[in-house]
Amino acid sequence: MCGIVGIFGSAQAAEMAALAMFTEQHRGQESCGMAVSDGKVIRLHKKMGLVKEVFNSDTLSHLPGNIAIGHVRYPTKGSATEFNSQPHLVETLYGPRYALASNGDIVNYRQIREEMEADGVYFNSDNDGELIVKYIVREMESRDQSIIDAIRHLMKEVKGAYSTVLATRDALYMFRDPYSIRPMVWGRNAGGVVVVASESCALDILEVQQRFEVPPAGIIRAHNDGVTIIENDPNLYRTAQETRHCIFEHIYFSRPDSHHFGENVFEVREAIGRALAKQDNDLEADLVMPVPDSSNFIAMGYAQAKGLPFSLGLIRNHYVGRTFIKPLQTIRDESVRQKFNLLPNFFAGKRIVLIDDSIVRGTTIRQIVELIKKGGVKEIHLRLGSPQVCHPCYYGIDTPTREELVANRFALEEIRQRTGVDTLKHIDINDLRHCVGNGTEYCYACFNGDYPIRDTSSADQFHECIRS
Ligand code: SF4
Repeated sequence: MCGIVGIFGSAQAAEMAALAMFTEQHRGQESCGMAVSDGKVIRLHKKMGLVKEVFNSDTLSHLPGNIAIGHVRYPTKGSATEFNSQPHLVETLYGPRYALASNGDIVNYRQIREEMEADGVYFNSDNDGELIVKYIVREMESRDQSIIDAIRHLMKEVKGAYSTVLATRDALYMFRDPYSIRPMVWGRNAGGVVVVASESCALDILEVQQRFEVPPAGIIRAHNDGVTIIENDPNLYRTAQETRHCIFEHIYFSRPDSHHFGENVFEVREAIGRALAKQDNDLEADLVMPVPDSSNFIAMGYAQAKGLPFSLGLIRNHYVGRTFIKPLQTIRDESVRQKFNLLPNFFAGKRIVLIDDSIVRGTTIRQIVELIKKGGVKEIHLRLGSPQVCHPCYYGIDTPTREELVANRFALEEIRQRTGVDTLKHIDINDLRHCVGNGTEYCYACFNGDYPIRDTSSADQFHECIRS
């Protein structure tokens, strides 16, 4: 999971990009970076750390220009090092000419990289963004293709999820994989500045009123000549007839104030809560409580449907970071204890419905339940806004291996016992499909193993395909 931004047509492109990146900080906290073009030179600044740590007025003053792209990274492929952080800047004989940042994972990365290395292309990182930009530059320079044709060629050969921004010296390009797995929205503010981002909340902060989805397999070019939208037929580049947006963006990853895939994220979460409540006609409880923050709206939907009070009994320390997306087990466990505390004298004798978005490894929720029990709670009924996560994600989300997923290690009743709750239920996958307008246009592979894109040259994915 990462966040991308792009700005075209403002003398304050770097400042605008920094604000947008800050708004997308929830999508990645390990590193961030920005590349800015002043029409002659593209300058790059990237480092490990949060946007506020890496960028300040001094660093931004060294990034003049009216085209900027930015990235916040959470590592899914490649280690958490500066080499793997984005954007990637490609030097040519004429100097640095192309900078690119991307969100999503390439499933046939290994095969494409080996082919390119055999062709003499050198890689500095293990990162998908570097592969994408070098693929495009190779197509342009060695096969004399236009940048648009090079991107189309990439869409044919390079499989996976990519919501991508590419800056040249005089233009900003944005393009998206044919399945539109990760979100990507763009628009123009009242002054005509073009802004693109992973999530619409980044457009809100820049007061961009007009906004649109980047179409599946679409390529958009912003240049002094104007904005050109190239709507390629996505079915030329994919096997399924429809898009496969990541349903987990609605359940957990995206901010509730974002709108993408045609839906308000908070409304999808409320619908998930209502669907969960429908399974609990006979359940009696005193209150509904989320594991904050991603489950807040799911819990609200549940509480409204059941006519129960909604309460925030768990208080979250917002400065710890998101537990699920810390890459190391040691850090993850430590974070849980630092992250939550109980309201004093609140839980004694109460029967609570505890709402969370998902169970992945099962360690976080077990520790949260332990903590709540210390408050003297009478009953805990745990409800999950996703079906059981049984399969890894290959499209840009850091899920653990199949073997590490708790749903593959224990039966549901065993998970309930290990978690220490009185009852445990997940949303049904068919109910989840009805929580969005067009449920057939989503990916549910981590629940049902129905992967829209498969790379059978990868041993892991081959075995996963056989199993599913
Ligand atoms: S496998 Fe799961 S997390 Fe990955 S894109 Fe599909 S729905 Fe999203």
